[in-house]
Amino acid sequence: MSRLNVYEPGFLSQRPYRSGRTVIIAGGAGFIGSNMGARLISEGDRVICVDNLETGRQENIAGLLEHPNFAFFLHDIIDPFSIEGPVDRIYNLACPGSPPKYQRDPLHTFKTSVIGGINLLELAEEKGARILQSSTSEVYGDPDVSPQSETYRGLVNTVGPRSCYDEGKRGAETLFHEMHEREGVDTRIARIFNTYGPKMDPEDGRVISNFIVQAFTGQNLTIYGDGHQTRSFCFIDDMLDGLIALMETENSFGKIDDPVNLGNPGEFTIAELADIVLELTGTDVGISYHDLPQDDPRRRCPDISRAGRLLGWAPKIPLREGLGPTIEYFREELKRKQRLNRQVS
Ligand code: NAD
Ligand code: UDP
Repeated sequence: MSRLNVYEPGFLSQRPYRSGRTVIIAGGAGFIGSNMGARLISEGDRVICVDNLETGRQENIAGLLEHPNFAFFLHDIIDPFSIEGPVDRIYNLACPGSPPKYQRDPLHTFKTSVIGGINLLELAEEKGARILQSSTSEVYGDPDVSPQSETYRGLVNTVGPRSCYDEGKRGAETLFHEMHEREGVDTRIARIFNTYGPKMDPEDGRVISNFIVQAFTGQNLTIYGDGHQTRSFCFIDDMLDGLIALMETENSFGKIDDPVNLGNPGEFTIAELADIVLELTGTDVGISYHDLPQDDPRRRCPDISRAGRLLGWAPKIPLREGLGPTIEYFREELKRKQRLNRQVS
């Protein structure tokens, strides 16, 4: 870990500091977390990234490690930890987001949401910090209504392969709610819908990264099931805007600690997504069909009217537009990996 700008006591007193705010990003080496770190550093915040590198990557934060306002703390949030000095904001973005990754160690995934959530909430309480939980559209399970609004209670299997993630996130929402009600912790809950963009791990296993990597490496795109299931894809820049707006709003219409959907309502079948990726990458690989995983949601589309009312937020970047920089990122990332492999062999 010698290349890392490792968090250690004294960080808060030694480092230059423009905005006067210290922000903890749990999961700050992952896809959303590392993009959030770059955004907040560029806005003058001081960022402490807490990550166990389970699915996060050092390369995601390589550009930040040299920055005097950024520190990396290698730590698993299921173990309690303390941070010296004041903390103003905590983004909890720690939890594997990809189904094959969160299903690899289901007990750990569940503990990350629940025990990790408790540890971060207690830290927020101790510091008087505002804390945002990255919840998920998966709290709606395999929904029987569409689009899904926050009042929909969901259709979730408690004992299926996705349960460790879905039920962990549902439990975390309860924890955040109760810590607000009972202890007065300033909590926010974002229900994030499928998000994509640069810094995704090419080996992540989610559909957008799989399709683009397959297109560039001459493999058939792998469609699970018949491809008629839908998802609604939000570009990372829009998601960061939504998360920051939710964290920072002082708006008192409605209860701000209640969950808020964040996502792009543009809904596509997975077969349509495959066609778009083939077109935009300019490749003509085929399609291979595989079994649909158990409990795979058939439809997913956010109702974002609450986010509009509370935050004045709506996504601006349609799928085809957001796929442009995403495809370029994967092109460069695959070249970088090839160069590394050549150096090793
Ligand atoms: P990701 O897997 O790329 O990032 C998760 C990060 O959390 C990684 O850096 C990982 O190493 C870290 N982490 C995992 N368990 C940890 C633990 N116990 N202690 C410390 N660090 C830990 O996923 P992402 O797409 O960036 O998702 C970020 C958050 O947003 C997650 O909580 C995820 O559930 C949520 N979310 C994401 C999406 C999406 O489409 N990207 C959708 C809904 C919800
Ligand atoms: N999917 C697919 N091929 C892949 C990866 C995923 O057809 O290579 C499907 C998956 O079954 C699901 C959708 O694409 O219906 C979105 O999957 P992803 O893992 O990206 O996220 P999810 O929304 O299921 O958590």
